[in-house]
Order: sequence, then structure tokens, then C-alpha cells
Amino acid sequence: MQKKLNLQKLKTFFKKNMYFIIMGVSVLAIGAMITVAVVASDKKAPTDSTPSDTIVLPPVDDTPVVDPVPDTPVVDTPEEPTPTPIVFISPVAQGSIIKDYTMDTLVYSSTLKQYQVHNGIDFAGEEGAVAVAVYAGTVESVTYDALNGTVIKINHGNGLVSEYSSLSDPTVSVGQVVAQGTTLGLLSTSATSEMNDGAHLHFSVSENGQIVSPHGYLADGNK
Ligand SMILES: [Zn+2]
Repeated sequence: MQKKLNLQKLKTFFKKNMYFIIMGVSVLAIGAMITVAVVASDKKAPTDSTPSDTIVLPPVDDTPVVDPVPDTPVVDTPEEPTPTPIVFISPVAQGSIIKDYTMDTLVYSSTLKQYQVHNGIDFAGEEGAVAVAVYAGTVESVTYDALNGTVIKINHGNGLVSEYSSLSDPTVSVGQVVAQGTTLGLLSTSATSEMNDGAHLHFSVSENGQIVSPHGYLADGNK
């Protein structure tokens, strides 16, 4: 009797809640289908990458073609060698210019008793003053002649030569590499063509054999 009553209640329960039961079963069924689908796709995934299934496509050059922007010209700046400007020191320390360089106007030579150009600068100094190399270079020649006295030429390269005349007691020899400021000899009256000017240095500069103004190389203080 008790059992029958329970069965009756159960039937009544199903009849009343049939809709919810169907819904619940349906939800379970859908959930099971999704689970099966997910598991199946997980199992199937590795087979997709097997070589037989893989279609090897040629590499696609998907780099966008970028046309060079025409209004930004490529500025070609070649490295121009900037030569170090050559600046001479004074060939005579504490020296004073007693006759300047002049190739445009004639100046009177008290020794030769005539007007002539002066292709260098005459520096006079104190007793025993020395002449020094105005710039680093190599001694090209050490010569003597009566008109110019002892003459030393120093080659600075690139055709630039400095010339020191009216010297005595030269202290350098041909081929010797000298630094800027190296002592070359003593100021003297050895240049008979300028002997009336007293002990001095006649200093001249040439570029490729052509006399040029030493002022183009001497520092401003010596102009
Ligand atoms: Zn002179």
C-alpha cells in the first residue's frame, strides 16, 4: 500500500514537471553533444597537421610594396677631406719685421743701392737669436752662397717649402725631420745682399716653386 502510494506520487510528480524534465534532459543531451564535439575536434586536430593533409603553399611575399617617397631626396654627402690649415709660428722668437714681403712694389736696398722687390720677410732679433722651423717638415737643403749666406730649405709636403736665408751656424742637415720650433741656425749678416740690414733672417715661402707671401701662413700676430 505504501509502495503504491509512492508510485502514484511519482507519476503525479512526472506529470506535473514533465516540461522541466524534458528541458533538463535536453540540456544534458546538448551538453553531451558539445563535449563529444570538443573531444572529437581535439583528437582530430593533430591529424590536420600531418604532412599528407598539409598543403604547402608557396611563400607569399606579403611585404607591402612601398614606393620611395619622391619628395625626400637622398642627400649624398661624401666625406670631403678637410685639410688641416697650416699655421706657421714666427721663425724668430721675439723677432721684429725690419723689411716686409713685397712683390708688388719696389723697396730700396741700402746694400745694393737699388729699388727691388723683396720676396720674403726680414726678421731681426736679439744677439744670438735663433731661427726655428715654422712648421714640421724635412730639411730639403742646407747651402751657402755669398749673396744669400747660409740658406736652409724645409719641405712641408704638398709643394710647400719654407726658406731661411742669412743664417750662420746651421744645426740641421739634409734629410733631417724637424718639428715645428726646431732650431735651424743663428741670425747673421751672412747674406751680403742684405748685410747693411744687420743680423737678421730673410724668410720666404714657396708653393710648388712659386714664391708666395709668408703672411698667408703666419699667425695673425706675425703679420
Ligand atoms: Zn730680406
